Amino acid sequence: MSVKSQGEAKEKTLIVVFGASGDLAQKMTFPSLFGLFKDGFLPPKTHIVGYARSDLERKKFEEQLTGGLDEKESKDKIEEFKKISTYVQGAYDEDDAFKNLESELQQMADKDLDGESHRIYYLAVPPSQFTSLADKLHKNNYKGITNRLVIEKPFGKDSASAKEMMEAITKDGWKQEEIYRIDHFIGDEMARSIMQLRFANELLIDSLFNKDKVASVLIELKETFGCEGRGGYFDEFGIIRDVLQNHSMQLLTFLTMDKPESLEEDHIRDEKVKVLKAIKPIKNDEAVMGQYIGNGDKEGYLEDETVENKESKTATFGEVVLRIDNDRWQGVPFLLKAGKAIEEDALRIVIQFKQPEKPLYPSEEPNELVIELYEKKVYFKINSKKPSMEGGIVRPEMILDYENKFDGLDAPQPYEFVIREVLKGNQKSFVREDELEEEWRIFTPLLHFCEGKDSPKPVEYKYGSNGPKESLEFDKKLGFVPT
Ligand code: NDP
Repeated sequence: MSVKSQGEAKEKTLIVVFGASGDLAQKMTFPSLFGLFKDGFLPPKTHIVGYARSDLERKKFEEQLTGGLDEKESKDKIEEFKKISTYVQGAYDEDDAFKNLESELQQMADKDLDGESHRIYYLAVPPSQFTSLADKLHKNNYKGITNRLVIEKPFGKDSASAKEMMEAITKDGWKQEEIYRIDHFIGDEMARSIMQLRFANELLIDSLFNKDKVASVLIELKETFGCEGRGGYFDEFGIIRDVLQNHSMQLLTFLTMDKPESLEEDHIRDEKVKVLKAIKPIKNDEAVMGQYIGNGDKEGYLEDETVENKESKTATFGEVVLRIDNDRWQGVPFLLKAGKAIEEDALRIVIQFKQPEKPLYPSEEPNELVIELYEKKVYFKINSKKPSMEGGIVRPEMILDYENKFDGLDAPQPYEFVIREVLKGNQKSFVREDELEEEWRIFTPLLHFCEGKDSPKPVEYKYGSNGPKESLEFDKKLGFVPT
């Protein structure tokens, strides 16, 4: 399945952000657009339009536009950014609202863009609105030199609903190559660096990436923050759809895919899909689902006023084991773990290596290659001689600390990177349809089990703890030894 890029929007571009009054728009979309603008990465003659149902006066819109920016940003640049941004209020499901939007867009194009524009429609709204927006946009606003539809995750709720949503959007007239499904982990600098770590050091590092050398792999995303204030959204989606089915799977595929034939956009995604196809759906008894309870200081999930269903079984923590049924990875357990309200903020990959049958030094421990994505560090945990008269084994780290090593290197924020990729028309940085299908295939049976009539209650863990104790037992059972 091949989806080719549409070419670069080099100038005259209108970027319309739907859900402009929302959380993502303020925290990520607008700050990233500002970052691109400030660094000269937006095409000349770009205009940004915020669109939502809320009645935002100019002042309120400007607060939303710049509220997520660092205080140290240049005031002059911020003023320039405000000048290229406009707010349009309207519904998400009424043709008249989109006709009005079209007349506003046309006026902007006539005034500043020689009458024509590339169009980017960014849907930063809850998933329930995706299909209707796509429909109305195609009907009323598909009038650019190029037209691109950028869709946030989660795309669907399981295999069937994702397929239905895709069919509805393409039936409306959108072509696959015009649809950019965001998984911002693809834009994360450290996630992107996994390719180079492996394939630009093929004989040294990638040659270790196989079942003969690797005992087990852990991919974990831990967040100290719970679901406070976002219970409405979270209770509908849960931790699998929030993290495991999309973000964790992106890391897994970068880590396990075979070397692509080239760096061409479809060669990379072909390899990612191949590895996904080799993974069987998760078994119900090979998962630990948890929900946080209060700790005396912080409220438990069910006590949060934004969680309406006080008997909700939505998991705020999840761990699953995946096995890749191919020559390279046969038998290696891949543990994917994600949780809210955990003791630390971490996004970490730990590759734990096998040990020799007869170690010369009895105290040696398994070697590990660790990728700390938040801290931007990659290190091997090695056994080394303890510097002393007697010797002995210690376990220091051989480390690449990106921030220290590349002092002053200005790595783009994930959303800056992915929005730039939309402008360039680079489909390789987005989730292809068959990739999405495979992700859902792997998780759908477990989701249905967890949401079925007789589903078990998630196990409890305390807000701010290290997650459920059942998860640590699960790790141990699968041979992952915490070191
Ligand atoms: P919000 O809940 O903040 O919603 C965004 C805007 O959509 C709101 O300001 C509101 O605007 C409108 N809206 C909210 N609820 C409804 C509804 N039920 N029906 C119609 N319109 C509604 O969402 P986020 O900004 O948090 O998320 C937007 C998208 O981005 C989602 O798909 C989410 O999964 C995804 N995402 C969010 C992340 C985040 O950190 N927030 C991270 C990664 C992805 P108005 O009423 O003014 O029209």
